Amino acid sequence: MVVVGSGLAGLTGAVVLARAGRKVLLVEQHYNLGGLATWFKRRGGHVFDVSLHGFPAGMKKTCRKYWSKEIADSIVRLDGIRFDNPQFRFDTEFTREDFVAKLQSVFGVEPAAIERFFAELARMDFYSDSGETVGELFERHFPGRNDVHRLLLEPISYANGSHLSDPAIAYGIVFGNFMASGVYTFSGGTDKLVKSMKAELERLGVHIRNRVQVDRILVERGRVRGVEAHGRVIACGAVLSNANLKATVERLVGREHFTSEYAESVAKVRLNNSSCQVYMGLREGESIPFVTDLLFTSTASRFDSLELCEMDTSSRTFSFYYPKTRPGLERYAIVASTNAHWSDWNLLSPAEYESRKALLVERTLESVEHYVPGVRGKIEHVEAATPRTFEFYVQSPEGTSFGTKFEGLKPSMTLHEQVRGLFHAGSVGIIMSGWLGAANYGVIAANKVDAWLHSLVEVEA
Ligand SMILES: Cc1cc2nc3c(=O)[nH]c(=O)nc-3n(C[C@H](O)[C@H](O)[C@H](O)COP(=O)(O)OP(=O)(O)OC[C@H]3O[C@@H](n4cnc5c(N)ncnc54)[C@H](O)[C@@H]3O)c2cc1C
Repeated sequence: MVVVGSGLAGLTGAVVLARAGRKVLLVEQHYNLGGLATWFKRRGGHVFDVSLHGFPAGMKKTCRKYWSKEIADSIVRLDGIRFDNPQFRFDTEFTREDFVAKLQSVFGVEPAAIERFFAELARMDFYSDSGETVGELFERHFPGRNDVHRLLLEPISYANGSHLSDPAIAYGIVFGNFMASGVYTFSGGTDKLVKSMKAELERLGVHIRNRVQVDRILVERGRVRGVEAHGRVIACGAVLSNANLKATVERLVGREHFTSEYAESVAKVRLNNSSCQVYMGLREGESIPFVTDLLFTSTASRFDSLELCEMDTSSRTFSFYYPKTRPGLERYAIVASTNAHWSDWNLLSPAEYESRKALLVERTLESVEHYVPGVRGKIEHVEAATPRTFEFYVQSPEGTSFGTKFEGLKPSMTLHEQVRGLFHAGSVGIIMSGWLGAANYGVIAANKVDAWLHSLVEVEA
């Protein structure tokens, strides 16, 4: 079988299928594996992680179960998380206990109201969607408390693009995952993680081909026959596509192979927002004191999930990378991330694009100076990424950072009912995005592929 794309969902799908004894070809258009879970190097010994800011503890369990003990053992908890905005400023452990304490001591919320909120979150599951939005859920529990809404949603908006208008169920599941025991990272950096995953796949006999663009997924009489890449057809029994859901259906397969009802439902799926980042690398030999690991900062007086995506937003997260990120490498880097809209960046002329990027860099440097005075003089390399950058590197439509909105989940999960032997695994539905969501979705999809291939053998027998 063929796995198209080596994001965390594709990689994890491939490892599960290989362990199940399947003959797997993993095809990736980029020269690196990992998709958005990636890193890059720049002259001067700089290494930057793109999406290694934080994920829930569940990633440790997923990696231990489906990857290896070594990979799982490198997953460590962040030491510091800080909020700094006009409504509140404090350090947090980002756990239920600490949030409960802060909601009482900083926000003055009644313990019974906090208890009711967390009890409702604990009861939430995918099959009991009430149709309520995040904003409605917050208003019901903490009416008029924009500051509380900010505490509860702002970090999750950065983690998966959630808005106040998104379904409460998607928010509740992801927020609950984080509240279990804080925020985690991968010690050694994304390069170490992806290299370890690649080694494990090779050990299991997975054939890996990078720099190979899959142009078509071939379908005959409602069943997958293979993929076409570089003008060659590779026949296979099943395809697990880790390309974006809409790209899989509309670009790689073609609408004509689906029922009009299904094709319409995919056309209506909204993409999640994209991101901008500013990567700042400190000169060799320079250092900064420990500030925190993850800083959610904003000068916006009130929280508004739309403000987070504006081009001129003052809301951003800083990830501080100290030598502990890559033990043995005495280097410091800072990465600033903001949410962003493709439509703001897509139509800029080359000159406008360069000047908007320069402005983004300048505003970010001004902001980081506030927390680390004098850091500008220590920064040797700085560059920016925009929605166009993400679209270019992973081919996600509109540079979406977190796949699709909630409605993408159903067509993704029912793709194989439309084309036999074709499955999808990748960021969809908010719940299945982020490192943990994507990896777990890879497992779910791989098990479905394996069961389907198994059913063919039974029929043939
Ligand atoms: C700036 C940013 C910061 C983030 N920070 C965090 C974070 O701190 N924590 C967290 O949990 N998540 C974070 N995320 C989200 C997380 O990185 C993603 O949700 C997750 O990595 C997506 O994995 P995926 O498998 O769905 O797809 P992707 O990573 O998008 O991988 C898809 C792969 O398919 C390949 N591909 C596509 N089409 C083809 C084709 N036709 N032929 C061959 N190959 C193809 C692409 O090149 C890519 O490698 C962040 C994302 C961004 C953009």
